[in-house]
Amino acid sequence: MHDLVIRGGLLVDGTGAPPVEGDVAIDGEHITTVGGTAGPARREIDARGRVVAPGWVDIHTHYDGQVTWDPYLTPSSWHGVTTVVMGNCGVGFAPAKPDKHDWLIGLMEGVEDIPGTALAEGITWEWESFPEYLDALENMPRALDVAAQVPHGAVRAYVMGERGARNEAPTAEDIAGMAAIVRDGIAAGALGFTTSRTLLHRAIDGEPVPGTFATPDEMLGIGRVLGELGRGVHELASDLMPEDPELAWMEQLSRETGRPVTFACLQNDIDPAQWRRLLDAAARAATRGARLAPQIAARPTSLLIGLQSSIHPFSGHAAYQAIAHLPLAERVARLRDPEVRHAILEERVQHSNPIVAFISSAFHKLFPLGDPPDYEPAPEKSVAAMAQRAGTTPEEIAYDLLLQRDGRELLYLPLLNYSGFDFEPIREMLLHPQAVVGLADGGAHCGVICDASMPTFLLTHWVRDRRRGERLPLEHVVARQTRETARLYGLDDRGTLAPGMLADVNVIDLDGLAIVPPEMIFDLPAEGRRLVQRARGYQATVKRGQVIFEDGRPTGALPGRLVRGPQAAPAS
Ligand SMILES: [Zn+2]
Repeated sequence: MHDLVIRGGLLVDGTGAPPVEGDVAIDGEHITTVGGTAGPARREIDARGRVVAPGWVDIHTHYDGQVTWDPYLTPSSWHGVTTVVMGNCGVGFAPAKPDKHDWLIGLMEGVEDIPGTALAEGITWEWESFPEYLDALENMPRALDVAAQVPHGAVRAYVMGERGARNEAPTAEDIAGMAAIVRDGIAAGALGFTTSRTLLHRAIDGEPVPGTFATPDEMLGIGRVLGELGRGVHELASDLMPEDPELAWMEQLSRETGRPVTFACLQNDIDPAQWRRLLDAAARAATRGARLAPQIAARPTSLLIGLQSSIHPFSGHAAYQAIAHLPLAERVARLRDPEVRHAILEERVQHSNPIVAFISSAFHKLFPLGDPPDYEPAPEKSVAAMAQRAGTTPEEIAYDLLLQRDGRELLYLPLLNYSGFDFEPIREMLLHPQAVVGLADGGAHCGVICDASMPTFLLTHWVRDRRRGERLPLEHVVARQTRETARLYGLDDRGTLAPGMLADVNVIDLDGLAIVPPEMIFDLPAEGRRLVQRARGYQATVKRGQVIFEDGRPTGALPGRLVRGPQAAPAS
């Protein structure tokens, strides 16, 4: 008698092999048989007509704070994710000197747009060192498995104090001190070391993340720890401008340590062909014994612009600022007043914030998102094109769109991965052997971005719905976010459906699978706001043999754990 049998589903096993029909039997935390007909079980899930796949392994999240108060890690858990890797891009909450808590919160608020008030109220700081942070996480019940990485920003500030925070150059002693902390963190179970090298990532006070300008000496001096220990991934977000010196130290680090380096790889409008050079460089590096894994996204990194978002095209207008403090319903009523509308639309503004300046002029890249959301809209669907057809200004169109759905409408502004107004570059990235799927950024950018639904989007759009170009095979996108993401991080105990593997399984109604329009909710500590996006069509998500979600609702089971270090494959 098995504990659980998932009966008669279409098994997409995570290896990339074509789907086959059959049963999955589970006993305790592990899968016991895959395929054929399994014997009786204490509990059965009827999966006829459903896809049965491994739980998604999402390697790029920012739940470092939320993980201390939210056992469910939504929105990722609503999307079939059963393992998350946190601590990306050099930001996190350990190590943390007691007098640096507010500073670390400001760093996270600035870089990842997570409300500082929510972090301040939510985090309880039972730790100072990174190993103590892991111990604290281990003691909290949770639905998913979580794994942490050591963030450069926190380490630099811990070791170098103000000099580190202000991005001053380290001494040899500083580098040794940082390496020692990273060594302790990895030895205690962190899965990697992460850093930010982009000017887009800044603390709330405007200072780039500590480590942004670190020289190869510092990167290699810390990175060699991964080689010494023979484990861990080096993750980074870099502007890669210019790219050659960046690629050179990454390749050197990977070759010297034998460890993978994964870096954010997205198409940008300034150099829209760079992504292809990066993928080529990773392929060349592979022939020289380096593992560079360009980390790619399933869709554009996009701003969601609405009256409740951090910014919108009129947020800098004085006539808007006069009513900006009002609750949404009152604000919408005022915005519908023809006099207010006229005043806001007439006002010409010199924007000091470059992002607001950009979104106030990028109407050719601003689109109604719609329901179901359309993430690959044709250029003629833009606000600018709508205005041209209507013989009016894009500002007027945008203004009226923002008032739809009682002021809750969100407009879609694809910032990255949409230079040519279609997904062909993304398709090429998704097919590239060196690339690895990530960048869903769960838990981050609460006020203006919500990409944590990417795991579901890989199935809805790439397998089923895409009309403006070729789609991708189901078994390919499943492997991309199960076995391949798990393997990069050495989590060889999960990511495929095979006997002995962890029983992390999704049962999916692929025909009914849908992502619904994103919405702003106020459920963080201190009523902090965040954009979330729900899914329909996950019939069941099983974690370590227990059903944690059924038809989108949590069952109350909390079988998740902190994952410490790489995990061995089951002995066959
Ligand atoms: Zn990130």
